[in-house]
Amino acid sequence: MAASEDSLRRALVEKQSTIESQGNAVRALKASNAEKKAVDEAIEKLNALKLEKSSIEKQLQASVSGNPGSSVSKEAFRQAVVNTLVGRLFFIPSFKIYGGVAGLYDYGPPGCAIKSNVLAFWRQHFVLEENMLEVDCPCVTPEVVLKASGHVDKFTDLMVKDEKTGTCYRADHLLKDFCNEKIQKDLSITAEKAAELKHVLAVLDDLSAEELGTKIKEYGITAPDTRNPLSDPYPFNLMFQTSIGPSGLSPGYMRPETAQGIFVNFKDLYNYNGNKLPFAAAQIGQAFRNEISPRQGLLRVREFTLAEIEHFVDPDDKSHPKYSEVADLEFLMFPREQQISGQSAKKTCLGEAVSKGIVNNETLGYFIGRVYLFLTCLGIDKDRLRFRQHLANEMAHYAADCWDAEIESSYGWIECVGIADRSAYDLRAHMDKSGVPLVARERISEPKEVEKLVIAPVKKELGLSFKGNQKKVVEALEAMNEKEALDMKSSLETKGEVEFHVCTLGENVTIKKSMVSISKEKKKEHQRTFTPSVIEPSFGIGRIIYCLYEHSFYLRSSKAGDEQLNVFRFPPLVAPIKCTVFPLVQNQQYEDVAKIISKSLTAAGISHKIDITGTSIGKRYARTDELGVPFAITVDSTSSVTIRERDSKDQIRVNVEEAATVMKSVTDGNTTWADAWANFPHHSSVSAEE
Ligand code: AMP
Repeated sequence: MAASEDSLRRALVEKQSTIESQGNAVRALKASNAEKKAVDEAIEKLNALKLEKSSIEKQLQASVSGNPGSSVSKEAFRQAVVNTLVGRLFFIPSFKIYGGVAGLYDYGPPGCAIKSNVLAFWRQHFVLEENMLEVDCPCVTPEVVLKASGHVDKFTDLMVKDEKTGTCYRADHLLKDFCNEKIQKDLSITAEKAAELKHVLAVLDDLSAEELGTKIKEYGITAPDTRNPLSDPYPFNLMFQTSIGPSGLSPGYMRPETAQGIFVNFKDLYNYNGNKLPFAAAQIGQAFRNEISPRQGLLRVREFTLAEIEHFVDPDDKSHPKYSEVADLEFLMFPREQQISGQSAKKTCLGEAVSKGIVNNETLGYFIGRVYLFLTCLGIDKDRLRFRQHLANEMAHYAADCWDAEIESSYGWIECVGIADRSAYDLRAHMDKSGVPLVARERISEPKEVEKLVIAPVKKELGLSFKGNQKKVVEALEAMNEKEALDMKSSLETKGEVEFHVCTLGENVTIKKSMVSISKEKKKEHQRTFTPSVIEPSFGIGRIIYCLYEHSFYLRSSKAGDEQLNVFRFPPLVAPIKCTVFPLVQNQQYEDVAKIISKSLTAAGISHKIDITGTSIGKRYARTDELGVPFAITVDSTSSVTIRERDSKDQIRVNVEEAATVMKSVTDGNTTWADAWANFPHHSSVSAEE
């Protein structure tokens, strides 16, 4: 706990007790009919103490929330953003006419356009830039794949139920909300209690079902909607289960992430890449998670688009050839140590963080830098973006290092991209389950002598005993791992025969000593065989887009000052429509010019919209500002038109024939608006806006 908060809580408790003593003194003076002067003086002292208490409370409030009164304005701000988003069909609650379903949302026309722009830029910034191998795998996944990855057994959240209504809640969220609420709103708790609650928050991810249940009972936490008692917490698997084919015998799941599709294709992708490391594969696709009680709007949903990269690298060489291109970047980083010692994120040079070993390796650092560039190019505010390192208790045991790109929104800091060095875990897990070697090979200059296990089934003997099943028995024997083979060898040596399970036959068979020879032989190896490590940046596209909405939204007064107008300041790169074309007044000549310009914009591949309604130009500007359209072309003559930039509201005048070319160059980012402003005559039309 920060010293100031701690001492403020102590001061508050002391002040409260002094106030109580002074209150008693006043009452005693009154009861003893003391002189009026003495009573007045005592009351004055009491009032002064109360004032001091209220001042400490204010300081404490500021200290715990960082910004007093901010939560109210944050909610009002969010409401304004969401109202605009829903009003202009950026998104729509799915199946709305049937009452909707929590955690499912549709993207409407501008939302779709933004998503497609974000994904196009993602492909350009990552897939194209790094020559990644893009794949597109099915959402329906057989059980065996997700069993191997650990999702069937471990992809769970702890859930509690309202004992009377059956409504479900995430147990850790209830405990987290309780602790945060107490710390921020209950100023009467002692410094010790505040420290205890903070400790609970710090270890929340580590608590077992029993420990969570104990805390929920200890703090008297009840169902938030009804105040009814809650059940004990129990694990709930977040995957949507299904079955593949009509028999119901082949269980499957809707994939909770896209990564597994890449891991299972590793062997072919490695081969496609000329058996060379490093290389990366990428996939964009839907992921499904049956979230227990999705609350934070578009941030926690049950179906969402993930864009994932699996960068395969030699575990002994995690350098990156383009690392130097990002090493000088500076941005907010929040390493583990700073979190533990209660500090906040600090602007840090990425290269320094890597060289000091704060970031585990160059490739991980490279991707952190690229993610920073990606998000800020989209329009995420760099001061509200930080890279937070996972604490030891958040990280899987096999992971070498993990950083989340967190973006600050009205809901707080939100994990939008996870960037993890997952070591060789995933490939090993699929190799063990499938029996297919998911390994890389490297030629070595000095051949090495190694001891190798050799399993040699004696086919003639096996054929005599197993006839038509001989092939399956041979394959099963050859697929044994080292331990299984050595166990069999020793059993055969001691007992002469052994029971052996053949998966593909679904039964045990008896293997005799004469049927297989198992030995260890010394061999010269000319290559090194190893399981690559994987560095995985995983992007929650919906979360990034929602944060972008919040970071881009602002209000400005109408010209007349009687209205607050909504504006999204999307950069042209992500704007759903790049420009609008308006004839200033309704007349055939202007409409014809607008159509000519529209045709040339289409030919140049610039998304645009013509608005030929008779509404005032000011209203039409306001409508396009609300969609975040960066430029508006107004036709006010047959030879030249004006181009207005959304945020400055500045206008330039260009010839009709050059309108599309200018537009192309400012929307592609080849020219800045400042350049255009410097190169073309300015136009001022106060009356138009009115
Ligand atoms: P994870 O595999 O849990 O690290 O998730 C990868 C990314 O997916 C996260 O960084 C989030 O951006 C996003 N994500 C995870 N769960 C959800 C959800 N329920 N709704 C929307 N995005 C999510």
